[in-house]
Amino acid sequence: MDAFTWTVGLWIAVAVVTLPVLLKVRAPYGRHTTAGWGPTLPNHWGWFWMELPALLVFPLMVVLGPREQGPLTWLLVGLWTLHYINRTLIFPFRLRTSGKRMPVLIVLSAVVFNAVNGGLNGWWLGHIAPPDRPFPDALAGIGALLFFAGMGINRWADARLIALRAAGTGYQVPRGGLFDRISCPNHFGEILEWTGFALAAWSLPALSFAVWTFANLAPRAHNHHAWYRERFADYPRDRKAVIPFLW
Ligand code: NDP
Repeated sequence: MDAFTWTVGLWIAVAVVTLPVLLKVRAPYGRHTTAGWGPTLPNHWGWFWMELPALLVFPLMVVLGPREQGPLTWLLVGLWTLHYINRTLIFPFRLRTSGKRMPVLIVLSAVVFNAVNGGLNGWWLGHIAPPDRPFPDALAGIGALLFFAGMGINRWADARLIALRAAGTGYQVPRGGLFDRISCPNHFGEILEWTGFALAAWSLPALSFAVWTFANLAPRAHNHHAWYRERFADYPRDRKAVIPFLW
């Protein structure tokens, strides 16, 4: 096995270890913000800075890499860029949480994650991927469909939550659509997105990103779910955290 494959394998192992840790320790931003995590910055700018490496590193490494770019490459770069333009440049400035802050530590850890994740995926696609498969094939088609379905769910759910906050009454129980089945459709949608991307790319780094997304977001959704139950006595009992009917 070559050094790159070892590195990505190790990266996946770190994700697997991270999942149970994040189930125990609620990552201290958003509703789980607590004192004692060091210096903080406004949460809008926290989101911007932590997502910026993802927006830049992957597309630049692919475009500047020596490997010739075919339609599959452009599909993958397009999906990635579409997601991160929203997450970096639009989502943070739509948040209605004026005055809320985020620990610099969280921002730095996300910067490292996004740089490594973008770097591994960018290196693979820009430098070492085998020539494009026939295009379009079933993997690319199903993967892209899953990605867009996930993106639709994620953006719809984010917009619903931001609108709830914009009503100016603090936290409320979200209702309607997938919110009647799970507490965090935005996280469910994002997990679908990167699973779809991994299918379309059919590469070890893309698989590592899907595993990492699950390792980050399933515990976050689990923690949000527990928080809702602690805070709202009338919280719907049959609602799951992140996977409809399952978890
Ligand atoms: P939340 O889903 O907790 O919140 C999103 C926004 O809505 C925040 O402004 C939040 O306010 C507000 N909000 C949430 N719930 C309510 C409610 N019940 N009533 C009123 N306002 C509410 O954000 P997360 O930080 O968990 O996730 C945000 C996005 O980032 C998601 O789309 C997620 O998929 C993505 N993400 C991706 C990660 C990855 O590894 N790929 C990691 C983390 C997030 P407040 O901030 O005050 O709580």
